Amino acid sequence: MSEIHHSHDDALVFMDEVTTDHSSLIHAVKSSWRIMIIDDDPDVHSATMFALGNLEIQNRPLSFLHAYSANEARTILAQESDIAVILLDVVMEQEDAGLNLVNYVRKNLGLNDVRIILRTGQPGYAPEIDAIRDYDINDYKTKSELTRTKLYTTVTSAIRSYEQICSITASQRGLELIVNASTELMSQKGLQNFSSGVLQQISSLLGRKIDGFICSPRDEQLRVNDLAELEIIAANSIFTPLIAQLASAIEHSEIRQMIGQALVTRNNLFSPHATLLLFESVDQKDVAVYLQSPMSELDKRLLDVFCSNISVGLSNVMLSSRLHRFAYFDPLTGLANRLKLLQTLTETLQSPQKEQSVLSLIDIDHFAETNDALGHQFGDLLLCAVAKRLLTNFGTSCHLSRVGGDTFALLGDQQSVNPDNIFKIFHHPFDVDNQDVQLSSTIGLVKLKNYDGGSSDALKDTNIALKRAKTHQRSSYSYFTLDMGVEIRERVRMMHALRAAFDNERLFVVFQPQIDMITNEAVGAEALLRWKTEDGSFIPPDQFIPIAEYSGLIVDIGEWVLRSACHELVQIHAQGYTDFKMAINVSQAQFSHPLFLQILERALHDTGAPANYVELEITESMAMTDPELLIKTLHHIKQLGAQISIDDFGTGFSSLSHLQKLNVDKLKIDRAFVNEIGENADEGSIAKMIVQLSQSLNIKVIAEGVETEHQAKTLLSFGCRLAQGYFYARPLTKEDLKIWLIDNEQISIRQPT
Ligand code: C2E
Ligand code: CA
Ligand code: CA
Repeated sequence: MSEIHHSHDDALVFMDEVTTDHSSLIHAVKSSWRIMIIDDDPDVHSATMFALGNLEIQNRPLSFLHAYSANEARTILAQESDIAVILLDVVMEQEDAGLNLVNYVRKNLGLNDVRIILRTGQPGYAPEIDAIRDYDINDYKTKSELTRTKLYTTVTSAIRSYEQICSITASQRGLELIVNASTELMSQKGLQNFSSGVLQQISSLLGRKIDGFICSPRDEQLRVNDLAELEIIAANSIFTPLIAQLASAIEHSEIRQMIGQALVTRNNLFSPHATLLLFESVDQKDVAVYLQSPMSELDKRLLDVFCSNISVGLSNVMLSSRLHRFAYFDPLTGLANRLKLLQTLTETLQSPQKEQSVLSLIDIDHFAETNDALGHQFGDLLLCAVAKRLLTNFGTSCHLSRVGGDTFALLGDQQSVNPDNIFKIFHHPFDVDNQDVQLSSTIGLVKLKNYDGGSSDALKDTNIALKRAKTHQRSSYSYFTLDMGVEIRERVRMMHALRAAFDNERLFVVFQPQIDMITNEAVGAEALLRWKTEDGSFIPPDQFIPIAEYSGLIVDIGEWVLRSACHELVQIHAQGYTDFKMAINVSQAQFSHPLFLQILERALHDTGAPANYVELEITESMAMTDPELLIKTLHHIKQLGAQISIDDFGTGFSSLSHLQKLNVDKLKIDRAFVNEIGENADEGSIAKMIVQLSQSLNIKVIAEGVETEHQAKTLLSFGCRLAQGYFYARPLTKEDLKIWLIDNEQISIRQPT
């Protein structure tokens, strides 16, 4: 490769500049225009250089690269990047060597900017017209045609067009960057960023620093004709102080006039000192660009191309602003959504405002029921009514958003955001579809003072507080406290530990005997789950059963308890205690599992346990939640032959008719009522009532938590024969139960009834 007046370094500088700073693009190539001569005839090289040697085009000299074969040309072209013009001999090694090379330049190397002038020695030979079009060949000349002046004008016009193409390519590259950036930004400042990008881009396109600013209508308006409605959204150098001001506030009357005129004529304007570009489109906002610079004809042409490019970019930005609206706002109420809240919350948490701020979640009570009863349309109107009232009362001072179906979030000063103020707006009925609807709400709050979590933690914690408030009663509120969070984290930790304990067989079942107080015989036992941790301590079921229920683990664990208890029952029967029954606790989550009946059937079948000696303990509250499902399930359970007993009886609420329908076998008097039976004879009236109730319904009854002989005797006097409690036996391991059963036999034999 041979080269004159040029070095590699320049090429590298040029490349860097293109990708980083477009404003220096034009200056960077100022050194020289690079012309490549490809010809197998050395005479052509010297003749061309002689003809063009001291030519200057736009104040820049020419420099030359030489290749004497198509192959050599390929090597050079693959390494060089800023060649303006190639003067190419068509016929070299082969007839079509030149055209093949053109193909290689355009397709393989992807060099689309370089201008190509084909030359041939044979007058009769001309490439196909298709090839000229497809390969973007600038000119085709026979060598004899190329006199010195002709060569001169041909190369000059090729360089002009190369320069133009470069500028446009650069601006397109720049726009690509802007458009990409704008889609990434997706923030409210998208249009601003885009606009300052546009100003930079124009400077780099025209190769000189141009002062200017960009304005666009405030609000949602598309088209404006009043300067007072235009806001300056981006500006550079001397105009920067104008940012965020109205166009009507611009001091220079000339500038104001120019913008005003462009708004009326709806055209670009070029004055001796300045330029005004107006972008408008059918469904997008007007954008006006003021440039403090006169424009040459070439400048105007470049701006033309640039403007058509820019509207595409602008549409993209506008589109992204609209997408932004969808991403951050709730379409139903027009309020901010959860994502937007998190953004605002992050800002608040980082600002001094944090210290007096409160985040609250406001949940509409019984919204789901209203929605189901009166329809979704009504529900939507209702939400809008609530949104509107919240907005009127808190809108200006607080950040309001809708974060869930019927949950609104309010973030603001504790003076405004507090339960009193929030409840106040629910004092009057809401007008929905011309009806008065009285609503109430439940509120969870977090004080951000000293809060050390992030925005999503704060939202989660507010939710915890809300859930807590809901457990109290509807229309109440709760402030988040650290122990609530600890509690939740502890629950999550315990959930993982429980799963591991179950997998590692650290759960086991113990059995607490149930006694017939008249005969002192063991009539059965209740299976109770135990969890022994690795360090040997026990976690009480009252703590881990709710977690197992909450996490769904209870389904697997419960099945395992069921099978273990059935297996044990078979063992006990085999020992000769053939009347022995096994009571097994079944929780709501297990019971309402669609496969529960199958699980039960399989446990009975696989262990060979006699179904009519298996008793399932369900709680009274469970009996109340879904009566239809319950009645159906109970019916199937009874068909299998198993018995049902109602645990913790007396703590919930059940109607008598309900109890009859459920067709249960046994009531289990809650420990609390047994506990009431103290030394004073008249205590235990509830226990007594339950016993009477069971007698009138013809249902068996058992008392649990019997700790003293007095309690046992009192219960017996009420007519309750069956008991379970520490007075008789603690829950025992299966080994201990076997021993206990034998020992107890002796006692019952010794104790005549
Ligand atoms: P529960 O069904 O009411 O079980 C009776 C609880 O009272 C047992 O507590 C038992 O150890 C305790 N207890 C028995 N006699 C006395 C007494 O004389 N005095 C006192 N103070 N307490 C007595 P435990 O074993 O801690 O079980 C607590 C709860 O955990 C159970 O209440 C039951 O709701 C649940 N649970 C235990 N095992 C299982 C299980 O396998 N599945 C399900 N779903 N829940 C279970
Ligand atoms: Ca029980
Ligand atoms: Ca109980």
